[in-house]
Amino acid sequence: MSSPPQKVLFRYSIASILLLWPLIAQAKVNVVATLPDFASLAREIGKDKIEIFVLGKPNDDPHFVDPHPNFVASLRNADVLIDGGAGLELGWLPPLLQKAHNPKLDIGEPGRVQASQGIRLMNIPTSVTPASGEVHRSGNPHFTVDPLIAKAVAQRIAKSLMAVDPPNAAFYDTNYKKFETTINTKLQWWRGALQQFKGQHVVAYHDSWPYFAHRFGLKIEIFLEPSPGTPPSPSHLSEVIQKMKRDHIKLILVEPYQDRRIAEKVARLTEAKVIEVSQFPGGMPGTDSYASLINQLVKHLADVMK
Ligand SMILES: [Zn+2]
Repeated sequence: MSSPPQKVLFRYSIASILLLWPLIAQAKVNVVATLPDFASLAREIGKDKIEIFVLGKPNDDPHFVDPHPNFVASLRNADVLIDGGAGLELGWLPPLLQKAHNPKLDIGEPGRVQASQGIRLMNIPTSVTPASGEVHRSGNPHFTVDPLIAKAVAQRIAKSLMAVDPPNAAFYDTNYKKFETTINTKLQWWRGALQQFKGQHVVAYHDSWPYFAHRFGLKIEIFLEPSPGTPPSPSHLSEVIQKMKRDHIKLILVEPYQDRRIAEKVARLTEAKVIEVSQFPGGMPGTDSYASLINQLVKHLADVMK
């Protein structure tokens, strides 16, 4: 005798729930990070409980990331968005968010981590002048290269993940504590390695390093760009060359997305060295995690400043 159709349907539904249960139970939190530094911090906290989609690549200029067609879909499906704020993504993120229309990512919601909130930004212009540059009008947004700030951002990411995924709250909290311990331990070594170079001047292409310089006692205050986001001009470069000669500055930092040829031209005229560094994990070989990025930056600088 055959079962009535409702009974069959009921049995099928129970069977599908049981079959799908492992998948339902292990559904990951969808996290979108605008840039690889935020993604790297999220990985430390979320590990295998989250799926991360990173919008900008390590070699992109963070101020001008070219939107890809799948960016909107990833934002639409996201449970958490981590962005820098402070004007960092002002030129490219707002239109994507508008199209994605995902209320979970609204500012103030637990799913939105604006990394700059709660951070004391450096170099906030007192008035908007050409010198404050097109891309740093709210203050300098390149703060994650300071390990103490990175810890604060990681803690905010942990809080967000705990709020959107309460069953795994203890897991996220434990991972944050592990990250905090790693950074505290390494910070001693990083400080020690750069201590003898305190007060030393280094030139950079773009003003990406004030937080790193402040943390480790370096002076990175002269830039090949006349103002953040403005391409180097011949008149500005000749001023830079004069200052470098006057103060015997022998190092120029360039990042992968900047025009290395300009830095090399200045280096030839000042007998300086150009060194390639990145503010993003993955921007240089062997820097897949946050700690390995800072490790490499510190080692590289200590080696060339000897
Ligand atoms: Zn910048």
